[in-house]
Amino acid sequence: MLESTDVFVIGGGPAGLAAAIAVRQQGFEVAVADGAEPPIDKACGEGLMPDGIAALQRLGVTLAPQHTQPFSGIRFLAWGLSVDAPFPNSASGLGVRRTTLHDTLTERAASLGIDLLWRTAVTAISNDAVHLGRTKIRARWIIGADGGNSRVRRWAGLGSHRRRNCRYAFRQHYRVTPWTDRMEIHWGPSAQMYVAAVTGEDMCVALVSHDQRLRLDEALRGFPELRARLADAPITSAEKGAITTTCTLKRVCRGNVALIGDASGTVDAITGEGLCLSFSQALVLADCLRSGNLSRYQQEHRRLALRPQLMAHLMLTLDRRPRLQRRTLQVFHRRPEIFRRLLALHVGAVSPMHLALDGLTLGWGLLTA
Ligand SMILES: Cc1cc2nc3c(=O)[nH]c(=O)nc-3n(C[C@H](O)[C@H](O)[C@H](O)COP(=O)(O)OP(=O)(O)OC[C@H]3O[C@@H](n4cnc5c(N)ncnc54)[C@H](O)[C@@H]3O)c2cc1C
Repeated sequence: MLESTDVFVIGGGPAGLAAAIAVRQQGFEVAVADGAEPPIDKACGEGLMPDGIAALQRLGVTLAPQHTQPFSGIRFLAWGLSVDAPFPNSASGLGVRRTTLHDTLTERAASLGIDLLWRTAVTAISNDAVHLGRTKIRARWIIGADGGNSRVRRWAGLGSHRRRNCRYAFRQHYRVTPWTDRMEIHWGPSAQMYVAAVTGEDMCVALVSHDQRLRLDEALRGFPELRARLADAPITSAEKGAITTTCTLKRVCRGNVALIGDASGTVDAITGEGLCLSFSQALVLADCLRSGNLSRYQQEHRRLALRPQLMAHLMLTLDRRPRLQRRTLQVFHRRPEIFRRLLALHVGAVSPMHLALDGLTLGWGLLTA
């Protein structure tokens, strides 16, 4: 049994595996423990934005084309309107089953010689060690990647966070030939449906709403166009639920402990950014560990979160105000360049200065709509 390692990662979800890979690429010995075993599934919209794919490439992770489906942009549908924009610079996003992503990350981690301890729950941490029941493994650095309800966060005294906008999500897969090369977000007065093709013959549909009793089947009645498309499609997975929140931590590291992924704060699922954010955090964290400077991770983590948080704020404002949602869609429909620039901002291709200009145009459009 392993007695010591340079870096111990608690949680082998996407964030934990990405962190382990990034840190290993910097030459550290790494171990990962997770209470579950691969492939770990989770309710998710299963869309990777172009910046997330770029981060995966830097981690040496290649998703097999036959198990993924590219998408070229985003479409919003609501109130009988449809607005659409491609990603800037002809970039693509990727739809990928969560289990496929997990398998691929696991294979990459194993190929780098990372110690993978599955079905192994971490029960405590101390100054220089991680405890697995009675077994103690010494570690110079500890990374908490144990998800939104992180215990590492509490153990390390990093627990004070603001939890906002708790929403409920359910996802299911349908066997149907993709009818679009866009990722679609269907907006209803009190819920959204997030639709992405994950292979050439499967679509993932995720419902996000404030109503914890609402399930996909019932919610689809409020989205007749989508319902018609899925009417004869066999359902190929069990409905899986999750809670999605937007929450920020005051601190994401203390002493030799750093948090990553949902353990270090969350953005609402509607942004489709959680995975991408954790891959970018992994690369930055590994670099900070190499230079032995975790305080830089704190700053960089905050910087990385700003854009997704801004997008989450915009989307949640539309979610809460159906009339504003309708007017905004009308403005996007009349001025598609505003939607295009918002998408470019979302994926980090334009500066917030552009957004300020578009914000004025959008504001004027809303006043005059
Ligand atoms: C409905 C929904 C849709 C989403 N859609 C998208 C999307 O389309 N695109 C996108 O980029 N993001 C999306 N997200 C966000 C994304 O799913 C999360 O950001 C991502 O799962 C975070 O990964 P993680 O590794 O931090 O956490 P998790 O995936 O929660 O992994 C945490 C792991 O830690 C393990 N663990 C916990 N405690 C312990 C312990 N004590 N010992 C050992 N192991 C432990 C767990 O078993 C688990 O495997 C969505 C989220 C939701 C809810």
